[in-house]
Amino acid sequence: METSGDPSATRARYRQLLEEHRAATGAELTANRASATPGGERPGFGKRAGDYVAQVVDDRTNNQVADALAAILEAIEAALGRLEDGTYGICPDCGEAIGEDRLQAVPWAPRCLRCQAVADRGPGLTFGRTGPG
Ligand SMILES: [Zn+2]
Repeated sequence: METSGDPSATRARYRQLLEEHRAATGAELTANRASATPGGERPGFGKRAGDYVAQVVDDRTNNQVADALAAILEAIEAALGRLEDGTYGICPDCGEAIGEDRLQAVPWAPRCLRCQAVADRGPGLTFGRTGPG
């Protein structure tokens, strides 16, 4: 007996959730990049050095935020791809279903909580860098 309702309705719900996150994250990334100073730009004589330092620090923070947003966008795209091929919600490492609580909180989560913790502790910084194939 089904306890979680129509699976295709569940997929449609997650697809909508992912598309909303993709739109919001994409808009945030665009705004973030627009506010960053293009590389090589220097302050004019009218500006004090302190202002320039603040600007550089600000840019660095912006770049880190942009990187994080880009990684999330990539993960959202990958999750939408998994929805298409029917592997969405299945942890590729242990083959178990990813908990619904986790998918509600992080719809683009590629792994179950346990395997993600292992991956985060693993050697190297491989999060979101699995590449094509
Ligand atoms: Zn797992």
